[in-house]
Amino acid sequence: MHGLMMDMPLLISSLIKHAAQYHGDTEIVTRTVEGPIHRYTYAEAHSRARRLANALKGLGVQQGDRIGTLAWNTHRHYEVYFAVSGMGAVCHTINPRLFHDQLTYIINHARDVYLFVDATLVPLVEQLADEIREVRGVVVLTDEAHMPKSDVLPRLICYESLLDEQRDDFDWPLLDENTASSLCYTSGTTGNPKGVLYSHRSNVLHTFGAALPDSLNLSARDVVMPVVPMFHANAWGMPYVTTMTGAKQVLPGPQLDPASLHELIESEGVTFSAAVPTVWLMLLSWLNETGNRVDSMKSVVIGGSACPRAMMETFGEKYGVNVRHAWGMTEMSPLGTMNTPLLRHANLSKKEYYDLCENQGRPIFGVEMKITDDEGRELPRDGKAFGDLRVRGLWVAKSYLGGAGSSAFDEDGWFSTGDVATLDANGYMRITDRSKDVIKSGGEWISSIDLENLAVGHPGVAEAAVIGVKHPKWDERPLLLIVRRKDSKLDKAEILTYLQDKVARWWMPDDVVFVDELPHTATGKLLKTKLREDFADYVLPTA
Ligand code: AMP
Repeated sequence: MHGLMMDMPLLISSLIKHAAQYHGDTEIVTRTVEGPIHRYTYAEAHSRARRLANALKGLGVQQGDRIGTLAWNTHRHYEVYFAVSGMGAVCHTINPRLFHDQLTYIINHARDVYLFVDATLVPLVEQLADEIREVRGVVVLTDEAHMPKSDVLPRLICYESLLDEQRDDFDWPLLDENTASSLCYTSGTTGNPKGVLYSHRSNVLHTFGAALPDSLNLSARDVVMPVVPMFHANAWGMPYVTTMTGAKQVLPGPQLDPASLHELIESEGVTFSAAVPTVWLMLLSWLNETGNRVDSMKSVVIGGSACPRAMMETFGEKYGVNVRHAWGMTEMSPLGTMNTPLLRHANLSKKEYYDLCENQGRPIFGVEMKITDDEGRELPRDGKAFGDLRVRGLWVAKSYLGGAGSSAFDEDGWFSTGDVATLDANGYMRITDRSKDVIKSGGEWISSIDLENLAVGHPGVAEAAVIGVKHPKWDERPLLLIVRRKDSKLDKAEILTYLQDKVARWWMPDDVVFVDELPHTATGKLLKTKLREDFADYVLPTA
């Protein structure tokens, strides 16, 4: 027997329709690529998204076509998100920091028919022009006054002129909710990038999950600044969650330096933000140097790589900002877990509280997880056993576009994340490594992430990485690489003494190397493959 409830499809267009109607005068504020601050409302954003949908139709874009974007977080990129998905095409966000070959691979693999590009990124597209043959035109996200010239790109269209020609009478189609809405390639550290194709249904369900109090906890009373780029796993869902809840949005454009971010936080009264640890590392050290504060901020979500304990403590104790440590993946739309305390944690000491915060958190409703051994057998949830982290759920990919990487998906519908983790009896998950990054010393695993987190707790350390280096007796031993903080004179003896009483003796790094910088992937994660290559022949003093 079927229930007798309406069968309304879950559609992305419904989010912006709702925001325009019920939060119509709430602002979306952008620091534009051209420089000045732009302000308008959800009602205006909706009207422009509808004009853009008409324009896309005029350009011959059909449902199912892929539209690539190379753009920072701005109101125009936001309009592209909603217009493209809303009309039934696929919004394919591309990370402009990727290498030339990755960019051409991704654009060709996705078969993008148009690219929507910030004016400053047009030179990047010019370099790709000869190799991206299916792209029919490039729409520049600017007005006539700022239109670049290009001898290389034959069809350069001005975004604002395109909109000027249109009416805002577009009716969002009632699509099947499983229609593809958006596409994002994972920044894999090996092999070709892999496409994750989201649906309207998965995105809207993720939006509900992300808005929950123990997830991002957003409401119409918040002022939200997504610093995480809209090309990194849909800015962790924030364009959708802010729209669903009707929160005011502050989009920082391309200027992600601490002074620019701080100016927006202060002038717009930002209450909530989210980004990878690197961004916050820079902001915190700038706040420390300048004596500025972030008093309007209530909470910040940090993920993408492990959030150092020292960062959570500084935010919490010095600035009164609650840090939510989150874990996710492009394949998971991306939210998987969020770290919030339970009722039973009400009386924790500060130390116990920050111990808890170091976990990546508990699964959000809609995501199931387990850890398994090398044979795929489930391991106990005792906080000690660690194994391959597998997930499934309402917004988890069931395959990659074109069937690549199929070995990550098993026949029971679980996706193998490539992360190594523990799960405890209270449901808290803790990442100990990426499967390729674990250090195996004498057959025992050493967590490089735990060592890195401890090392950055030292005031003289700006950034740290730990990799396994060949050792004749133990097979591998940990090597600690450190970027010193400005003006720090930290040396090997001091950092080793600092670590001594914090880790088991056999976890202690066998050597420490000070470097000027560490390599990162396009989304700001440590590029350990490069480090392992660079230090492949490194001879440890203990070897
Ligand atoms: P991406 O799809 O580019 O967002 O990368 C996902 C991967 O980033 C995960 O599989 C983890 O290896 C890593 N990651 C994300 N969040 C965290 C976190 N809070 N702690 C440790 N690693 C993380």
